[in-house]
Amino acid sequence: MYQLIDGKAISTALKEELKGKVDALKAQGVEPCLAVILVGEDPASTVYVNNKKKACEFIGIKSLSYELPESTTQDELLALIDKLNADDGVNGILVQLPLPKHIDEDAVIQAISPKKDVDGFHPQSVGALCIGQKGFVSCTPAGIIELLKRSNVEIEGKECVIIGRSNIVGKPMSLLMLRENATVTVCHSRTKNLKEVTKRADILIVAIGKPKMITAEYVKEGAVVIDVGIHRLEGKKLCGDVDFDTVAEHTSMITPVPGGVGPMTIAMLMKNCVDSVTM
Ligand code: NDP
Repeated sequence: MYQLIDGKAISTALKEELKGKVDALKAQGVEPCLAVILVGEDPASTVYVNNKKKACEFIGIKSLSYELPESTTQDELLALIDKLNADDGVNGILVQLPLPKHIDEDAVIQAISPKKDVDGFHPQSVGALCIGQKGFVSCTPAGIIELLKRSNVEIEGKECVIIGRSNIVGKPMSLLMLRENATVTVCHSRTKNLKEVTKRADILIVAIGKPKMITAEYVKEGAVVIDVGIHRLEGKKLCGDVDFDTVAEHTSMITPVPGGVGPMTIAMLMKNCVDSVTM
């Protein structure tokens, strides 16, 4: 019988803890503040930004909202980031991705001060993670570590296989698992004999972006499976990169979609905002 890793419950517990921390900061006269920038009207981005604002409200973090038109130029966006970098009242800056095509995302990410980089995407934050120094960590992989630890999954010495090597999930995930002393293998679209590699995993982390691709034959009996993928099927039902219905019974623990990794991403963003006060 497998155990469900309840990301919703774990993220709620984390947000309650953060609320307590923010109350304590406010009692000292410090109010954490997150600036959220959205360019354009992409419906999914609008939902994400609203969820982030709601989480700020729940925890007591002040949020400043900049909803800019699609026609905003890169220079205008960079000027706003400069202004927010210089504003001592703003602790964190989040630019919702993706940006419209005429704006260079890398230039925007690099313009955010690493001290306010709550998404953990700035090259300095990524470099700090790589060499084990202090800095913000990308929220989804940081949330997965939190999920594993709070579910009492032992990481040290375990075989961990990650499928996916993106800058926001796969790569930072591999560095975090290494930091936790797992033996780490990273797979991608050119990996040969994927099933043979994934079958070695005590902990299998899946971030491919292909609905239900991972079936039981990819999974070692009793493995812990973390599904990062999120897809909306016809009829609006959500699913992950893992075929939950056939895989779950072969695992010891697994995250559902929805209600697994997703809620942790926002909770870790909130944690980064609270931590940004002392960065
Ligand atoms: P990317 O598309 O950036 O990366 C996908 C990775 O999967 C790539 O490294 C790619 O390899 C690899 N891949 C693609 N096809 C295969 C295959 N057939 N076999 C093995 N590897 C393959 O995706 P992201 O990392 O941004 O996101 C992954 C999933 O997680 C998506 O569904 C996304 O929506 C979801 N997501 C969920 C979040 C949450 O909060 N729950 C947050 C972020 C993402 P290669 O590098 O060779 O192309």
